[in-house]
Amino acid sequence: MSALEMSPTTGVVVTGGGSGIGRACARALAEVGRPVSLWDLNGEGAAEAAASIAADCGVIAHSLGLDVTDGAAVADAVAAAREALGGIGGLVHAAGIVTAMDIDHLTEEIWDSVLKVNLRAEVFVAKALLGDLRSHEGSAIVGIGSIMSVVGNPLIPSYTASKHGVVGVTKSLANHLGPDGIRVNAVCPGYIDTPMTALMMDDPPSKAVCVEKAPLRRVGTPEDIAKAVRFLMSDEAGFVTGTTLIVDGGVTSHD
Ligand code: NDP
Repeated sequence: MSALEMSPTTGVVVTGGGSGIGRACARALAEVGRPVSLWDLNGEGAAEAAASIAADCGVIAHSLGLDVTDGAAVADAVAAAREALGGIGGLVHAAGIVTAMDIDHLTEEIWDSVLKVNLRAEVFVAKALLGDLRSHEGSAIVGIGSIMSVVGNPLIPSYTASKHGVVGVTKSLANHLGPDGIRVNAVCPGYIDTPMTALMMDDPPSKAVCVEKAPLRRVGTPEDIAKAVRFLMSDEAGFVTGTTLIVDGGVTSHD
């Protein structure tokens, strides 16, 4: 049995589990025997993903349709997931949105909505899960950042701020929760082929730019990110906390 398979067997909440990177993370964790609860605004997508994960991996895969920025809905979801999974020892925050609006056109509403989902929700979902995470050995949190956690993009100041924030929050929470044995890390994806990037990926010239920027000369798959997340959630990463793993095919390795 590999060390990944010997990792904690406690359940994991995956926000954004109904699509793209979150969905692949839920499947990757289920493949090593971890029950998963997929939370997504798109409840239908989450239910469909959970059904296929349960059928293929033989673990409990639970789903809920909710807005992860809604505190009352999150509290109910924690209780439902705890009951369905029989214990929660992990969180992957992959729910996210992007709204392209440079500062000339940016509104307070857009700024707040992006920060709320991408950054604030990671903190308050984690807070709602603290009792569960503290009561299981080997608990871990992974937040999904972006290459916009380390560089800036003029068209998406709100997204860039939210993703830089994920890195800061990772370090702060890791410091506070480390003594309780809870590790907190971030994974920063490069250009990944998901519904979020469909407009770019379905446009050959735009996709070619993404490929050209990556020394590995391809865009990433959701599974590329899920493998890194699974590592950070596992005991293989037992001494890794407060850090950021960039998984971008090398996009941010050059000017
Ligand atoms: P997707 O759009 O495929 O998946 C995101 C999911 O999150 C969707 O199902 C979406 O639902 C859901 N969601 C959005 N808002 C909420 C909310 N308030 N409550 C619950 N669920 C919500 O995107 P990706 O898989 O590509 O993105 C996942 C994460 O990875 C995001 O944080 C993104 O910023 C990050 N990322 C993605 C990259 C890429 O190239 N794809 C690159 C770098 C980072 P709905 O569709 O109904 O809105």
